[in-house]
Amino acid sequence: MTSSDTSLPVVAIVGRPNVGKSALFNRLTRRNSALVEDLPGTTRDRIYGTVEWRGRVLRVVDTGGLGDEATDPFGTLIREGVHHALTESQAVIFVVDGQTGPTGADYEIADMLRRASQPVLLCVNKADTGAGERNLVEFYALGLGEPLAVSALHGRGAGDLLDAVLEVVPEAPEEAPAEPERVRIAIVGRPNVGKSSLANAILGEKRAIVSDVPGTTRDAIDTPFEFEGHSMLLVDTAGIRRAGRIERGVERHSVQRAERAVDRADVVFVVIDQQELLVAQDTHIAGYAAQASKGIVILVNKWDLAEDRATKPEAAQRVDARYKFIPWAPVIFTSALTGEGVQDALQLAVHIAEVRRRRVQTSELNRVLHRAMAEHGPPTIRHKKLKLYFATQPEVSPPTFVLFVNDPALVHFSYERYLENTLRAAFDFEGTAIRVIFRGRAEGGEEPA
Ligand code: GDP
Repeated sequence: MTSSDTSLPVVAIVGRPNVGKSALFNRLTRRNSALVEDLPGTTRDRIYGTVEWRGRVLRVVDTGGLGDEATDPFGTLIREGVHHALTESQAVIFVVDGQTGPTGADYEIADMLRRASQPVLLCVNKADTGAGERNLVEFYALGLGEPLAVSALHGRGAGDLLDAVLEVVPEAPEEAPAEPERVRIAIVGRPNVGKSSLANAILGEKRAIVSDVPGTTRDAIDTPFEFEGHSMLLVDTAGIRRAGRIERGVERHSVQRAERAVDRADVVFVVIDQQELLVAQDTHIAGYAAQASKGIVILVNKWDLAEDRATKPEAAQRVDARYKFIPWAPVIFTSALTGEGVQDALQLAVHIAEVRRRRVQTSELNRVLHRAMAEHGPPTIRHKKLKLYFATQPEVSPPTFVLFVNDPALVHFSYERYLENTLRAAFDFEGTAIRVIFRGRAEGGEEPA
């Protein structure tokens, strides 16, 4: 699953165990590989897949075994499973077993689904057998309208089911809904620098780091919180925890995990321990965050332990020297213990996330760049000089600028730096990486004068 999938409408497949949910899932998503076992109560993780039908694309989630009468007499798992499915889907396919007729668990699920705001399609599976046919009419008793007969194994009725799904799932809007964007923060750094202590300080002491929202990777857990009226998200809170008790051999895994957290963040808190300022630090993850064009704040933590707090300027200089590849990243002195600097860091994160969403007017952008090039002309390379035709900012978060030029090969590294710094200064892109892409005449498509 990639993040771009999240804009697709989601259809959840629910039903008690052994009715053929995963067979239907495989049929709809054309996955034949997964095992379809005839064992009741085989629980699995939730599985996501995509369906393309009549030019539309949907995401389908198989909710796995939702408890059964034998192991779950009070229907707790069923209720939880249905509840979860309802929170994340725009429509529900409720699968029942045509060979058995409706059971108690079916009625229980139907009760919940009748109260849901989403459309529900009642799907009678195993209709390939005569018994399935005969029982079809019994399922009207579930109060969910007309039952649709399918055979997940043989494919019968699958097309009609998908047609019915398309009818009830609204077309995805052109633009993503303007829901307030959360500021996503990842906390990274070496073991023991105070990441989980900082996470606790941010979330409030009373609040234990517990499962809140499943992240996009398996066992990643994000924690939402509010800060001064802003919606925030701490990315992979579980990972922050885990990295603390690092064991030999899992180091590599935790680096990869930190990278995945960075991938999903707007702003990365790179935490270092003020006691370690004099020793060589690992700057890999900060470099990774810069390359991924993220916002970055450097947190010099355990500042309460500093022997001489007047040494702040020297300490800042040392950090700057070490992190000179991200001169734009602000440095904050924090103490997870006393809370010092934590609020400042969060305010910066909010500000940086806003800056990253800023869209520069095209006219303004071109004026600034042309002036910068007039003031400080590009170097001549092989008797040729870089010429800028037109610049535009097609994307935000990260702010991305495309400069249409005569020949991208004429862009010297240091000149690229110069133009990038010009943009940063002119439009106040504090605390975030920006992307500057050069395109030649031929690739540009449009070619304004
Ligand atoms: P992590 O591995 O980066 O998550 O680090 P922890 O949050 O587990 O902290 C490692 C140790 O440093 C713990 O003993 C914390 O109590 C301590 N610690 C963390 N932050 C601070 C701080 O700001 N000041 C002081 N004095 N101790 C801290």
